[in-house]
Amino acid sequence: MVKRAQRISAIPPYLFAEIDKLKAKARAEGVDVIDLGIGDPDQPTPSHIIEALTEAAADSTTHRYPPYEGLSEFKQAVADWYQKRYGVELDPQTEVMALIGSKEGIAHICWAYVDPGDTTLVPDPAYPVYRTGTLLAGGKPHILPLTAEGNFLPDYEQVPPQIARKAKLLFINYPNNPTAAAATPEFFAQTVDFARQHNIVVCHDFAYCETTFDGYRAPSFLATPGAKDVGIEFNSLSKPYNMTGWRLGFAVGNKNVLEALSIIKTNIDSGVFNAVQHAGIKALTGPQNCIDDMNRIYSGRRDVIIEGLNSLGWNLKPTKGTFYVWAPVPEGYTSEGFAALLLQQAGINVAPGNGYGKYGEGFFRIALTCSEERLKEAIERMRKQGILFAKA
Ligand SMILES: *Cc1c(COP(=O)(O)O)cnc(C)c1O
Repeated sequence: MVKRAQRISAIPPYLFAEIDKLKAKARAEGVDVIDLGIGDPDQPTPSHIIEALTEAAADSTTHRYPPYEGLSEFKQAVADWYQKRYGVELDPQTEVMALIGSKEGIAHICWAYVDPGDTTLVPDPAYPVYRTGTLLAGGKPHILPLTAEGNFLPDYEQVPPQIARKAKLLFINYPNNPTAAAATPEFFAQTVDFARQHNIVVCHDFAYCETTFDGYRAPSFLATPGAKDVGIEFNSLSKPYNMTGWRLGFAVGNKNVLEALSIIKTNIDSGVFNAVQHAGIKALTGPQNCIDDMNRIYSGRRDVIIEGLNSLGWNLKPTKGTFYVWAPVPEGYTSEGFAALLLQQAGINVAPGNGYGKYGEGFFRIALTCSEERLKEAIERMRKQGILFAKA
């Protein structure tokens, strides 16, 4: 066999691929697995968005290559949405760019800024793409630990000055996957200062922009004074509109950074299918009550899990956003050991926290992407098996 490139040998197996294997094995053994592992909305895309796709797909003008940076109407819809939802002004021509899902943009921004040996600042635990995107470009991720004591926000004062000086990109993500933590405006202001001081491009991943509960509204990083001078925000229709399969996201913010990203993208892909962008326009400009409906579903499920786990000895507070619950494993277990126990004794699949980085060790993540009924059953199975946080 031909030797594979060094850059892929450096990549650990994708976390969810490993989880899928374990789950498949349990299912093959006849276990009725309650799958709380993967964060992918279980509800369908709202019908008005599907109708917009069908209509646009029937129009043959959508069948040709799309414009690289996105349809003007799509970029305008994004700019209007940002104005309305977050109070952020964007120039649709230079400060908005369509992506084939935000994951694509997050991976490619590394190719635009990271040369072999360059440093990026990557939170831990985190969505794995910040780290693997850096590694694929030959860079070195420097870890910013996210701890419960630090409210899962990075502490920039802990970054050694020689690392801060070298760093080219800083990734942050709030509301946060996997910890469900929320950012404060003060934290975003600190981020702008830090990036300015050390000349770093901030990449804020805002995938859970609209998945918030109990009246909480998540701020856009770009609403922070000076943010547009130092960074961009990745956003996506995947989570707010149940459109993960459609592959439609966008990047907004600093035009110089977007231009660098577009040099990579014009040479690698040819944009998002125009009909999908038309459906995206419908999502952004159409009725928004689908978001509230989804958030009511997620917050109901959140209550089932948090109240359920608390009845088994945990001490969790209600989350403000995302469809995850991040909980410590009982004493004496590793993350993987506890995930294996849940799968083997209770047929429950959760994501072990160490899959999101070494500071995720000691935690597990539950995705609220299945029905309240199944979540209640998961809690009952744990109770029956005596799987408690602390034995009284
Ligand atoms: C789901 C998710 C994404 C990816 O979203 P796509 O737009 O579907 O690629 C990005 N970041 C985080 C933190 C996510 O959880």
